[in-house]
Amino acid sequence: PAIDFSKQPNDGYFLVARALAKLGVRHMFGVIGIPVTQLASAAQACGIRFISCRNEQAAGYAAAAAGFLTGVPGVLLTVSGPGVVHGIAGLSNAQVNCWPLVMISGSCEQNENEVGKGAFQECDQLAAVGGHVKWAGQAATAADIPGTIAQAFQAAASGRPGAAYVDIPSNILMASVDDLAAVQQAEAAVAGPLSVPRPAPPAAGVAAAAQLLRGAQRPLLVVGKGAGYAQAEGPLRQLAEAAGLPFLATAMGRGVVPDDSPLCANAARSMALGQADVALVVGARLNWQLHFGEAPRWSSGIKFILLDVEPSEQDAAKSAVVLRGDAGTGATALLAALRQGQAADTPLLPGAAASGWRAGLQAKVAGARDKLAAKMARTAFPLDYHTTLRVVRDELNRLPKPAVVVSEGANTMDNARVLLEPVVAPRSRLDAGTWGTMGVGPGYAIAAAVVAPDRNVVAVEGDSAFGFSGMECETICRYNLPVCVVVMNNGGIYGGDRREQRLRELAAAGLAAAGVPTDPAPTDFVPQSKYHLLMEAFGGKGVAVATADELQAALRQALESRCPTLINVAIDPQAGVESGNVHAFNAPKGGS
Ligand code: ADP
Ligand code: MG
Repeated sequence: PAIDFSKQPNDGYFLVARALAKLGVRHMFGVIGIPVTQLASAAQACGIRFISCRNEQAAGYAAAAAGFLTGVPGVLLTVSGPGVVHGIAGLSNAQVNCWPLVMISGSCEQNENEVGKGAFQECDQLAAVGGHVKWAGQAATAADIPGTIAQAFQAAASGRPGAAYVDIPSNILMASVDDLAAVQQAEAAVAGPLSVPRPAPPAAGVAAAAQLLRGAQRPLLVVGKGAGYAQAEGPLRQLAEAAGLPFLATAMGRGVVPDDSPLCANAARSMALGQADVALVVGARLNWQLHFGEAPRWSSGIKFILLDVEPSEQDAAKSAVVLRGDAGTGATALLAALRQGQAADTPLLPGAAASGWRAGLQAKVAGARDKLAAKMARTAFPLDYHTTLRVVRDELNRLPKPAVVVSEGANTMDNARVLLEPVVAPRSRLDAGTWGTMGVGPGYAIAAAVVAPDRNVVAVEGDSAFGFSGMECETICRYNLPVCVVVMNNGGIYGGDRREQRLRELAAAGLAAAGVPTDPAPTDFVPQSKYHLLMEAFGGKGVAVATADELQAALRQALESRCPTLINVAIDPQAGVESGNVHAFNAPKGGS
């Protein structure tokens, strides 16, 4: 039934809630308390689902993921002072990932008798969020609220998406606008559902890009998470397929063009990067994850075509052609330009068609897949990453509808990226992202289950990563979300107790060692922790498994029942490596 907004109060709480509802917000994540408890209730009264988390940090991760998954900025509600500080974890992570997020926080009353004197939860919140947002503003009166929220949404979603912050002092939340004409005038600031612009890149740039691609011997498409956010899967699939353009996808750009396409070069990443002569980079930055676009991982003569809604200056400086525009609109324009004046039976990329590049990549991919298949065929006991993830992969691939898979933890995430494939649907992978943020998993899983209720959500978590936000199991149970958390339990960060091994390494390097310290190593946790009892504690299902068969049975039941489940997998404590597979970040053996 439609909600009669005209019968609602015109206080600050309802002015916020109605502005959000009019903007098209359907979910809000947060933690309530002074002074925003009534704001969450007002949101519910306006038809917005309020997902109440156990910590603002996890709520912020959830809201950010909702922004990425739906294209509408996620909304995070926080209390003043410490709530804002916790919320900044989510805010900064969204900003760094280029995901749209609007954080709304109450703040202490703005009055001369209290401010500056240590008022309850007093904090200069605008200053605190300063380095982590695209935009921040404060509502100075209740009538200011709708306009301030509209501006925050606009800022979060336009250009390069990111984080925005709205501060509302408690006295403004509690104030009412009495004059009905003034209410109407204030609410006119929100015209209706937010429309995100999809700008087309300038035609001259598109023509130059098409020409560069036609002449390329070894062209490559790189699909980033910006393309996933832009929901550019239709145009990008068409472009790749029509042009026969091999592609690599970044971790969260996976599935925009499906992994099972013969053009997917993910399993031949080094060759693709190292030998491409022209790379069309769509919705991805040339940051550490793409080796800064520099030699030796890329060939020194590489020419980049950058298609990005808001390219950074340094990425633009590295590119031969910069296409400022939306990923989908831009891909459509580029395909049209490639087709322009071409007979239907001639290849759109004649240089690539003649060079044997595609076949070369395919041969490399086939070789890599054979090697991996041999490694995966073995069933290890105690369980290792390959065996565990093979079982997870096979269960995922049986599902009628692709699951959303969250993964985090150094070894867990690196292995999951490679082994949990194919990714065939966009926005189906969520992980630690640009910042390598650990602790995002439970929040991301909650968001995915809330915004895509018809899908299963599987969060594959290292035991360390899980620990950051493990209490969100209660949230998962309370909302009865179809989330299955798989904890890869090797009893520590990177791996289990390695003190003896470390001492041997030190001795071999001729360095003194004082003996096994009595304290646990910084990387150790309590061995064989019973994480599954956490889900049981809140009425979900918890299962401890130690073999491939036990894991398979538990996972199948979780996916079929859609009941909140935690599967605690006993992993060989020696199975992981430090920093996962990012070997460049590992300390040299025998060093400090
Ligand atoms: P990845 O981690 O997958 O490499 P990044 O986070 O580095 O991706 O890059 C995402 C990029 O996507 C950002 O540069 C951002 O400006 C861009 N982007 C966001 N929305 C769009 C859009 N609609 N069209 C094109 N690019 C977009
Ligand atoms: Mg671990």
